[in-house]
Amino acid sequence: MDCLFCKIVEGSVPSNTIYEDDLVKVFLDINPNTNGHMLIIPKKHIVTVEDMDEEIDARILEVKKKMYKLLKEKLNVEGLTITQNNDLGQEVKHYHVHLIPRYKDDCWKMHFRQDNLKDVKEVLSTLID
Ligand code: 5GP
Ligand code: ZN
Repeated sequence: MDCLFCKIVEGSVPSNTIYEDDLVKVFLDINPNTNGHMLIIPKKHIVTVEDMDEEIDARILEVKKKMYKLLKEKLNVEGLTITQNNDLGQEVKHYHVHLIPRYKDDCWKMHFRQDNLKDVKEVLSTLID
């Protein structure tokens, strides 16, 4: 399969690996938002959250906690933003969780167009209809 992150798991594409076990791998993002920006990926080829299973998801949670501890101890991070894109906005079609260390005055921000949003109540009634 022609998947960049499967190649990183196999080792045919190099990565700056921080941690790995039987289910997941963690490596530094090649184009970091902040110092220590890392990606947690399942070793199995999973594309979106729709394909995720409980065992791997539970391991990802454990590893998120482990990595946050490491980042606090080693890089003195003051916060952690966790994001995970599905389909739209997902450049690499192999599930990955971004761990973005936060530092005071880093000015990290997500930008959204908000001037054309529906009323919150209208969205609510559509969702629970
Ligand atoms: P997405 O937009 O799919 O949520 O994020 C994909 C991420 O993968 C981006 O932050 C990008 O910098 C990172 N990335 C893309 N190619 C490589 C690569 O070859 N190695 C590493 N370590 N990260 C990559
Ligand atoms: Zn893959």
